[in-house]
Amino acid sequence: MPLAGDARPQDPAPIREQLWELPPLAWEVTEYQRHARTCPDCGKRIWGERPPEAPTGCLGFRAQAAVALLTGGARLTRRVPQTLLAELLGLPLSLGTLLPRRRLLRLPSPACGYPR
Ligand SMILES: [Zn+2]
Repeated sequence: MPLAGDARPQDPAPIREQLWELPPLAWEVTEYQRHARTCPDCGKRIWGERPPEAPTGCLGFRAQAAVALLTGGARLTRRVPQTLLAELLGLPLSLGTLLPRRRLLRLPSPACGYPR
């Protein structure tokens, strides 16, 4: 309720109250479209790759760091971070996605020299 009248010199210092709020969360989604070419000789289809600076998998680097913190750094079972990520961040991940991160091997096909 606002106080009546103007402040006077004998009034005490104001009580300071702070209210902290989370900023609204808006996910940044980047879509990569990887096109394919078919070798005219052997018919093998070769798909383009993501840019080299792009992360693998379905999570960006900051999202990966959050998952790593919750699953590894906080030493929680996988269901707890799964619930926290879904309820707090709106990121519904399967338990399989929360497994330790492994780099996928993408071996080039030696049989086909079709240019990419
Ligand atoms: Zn070929």
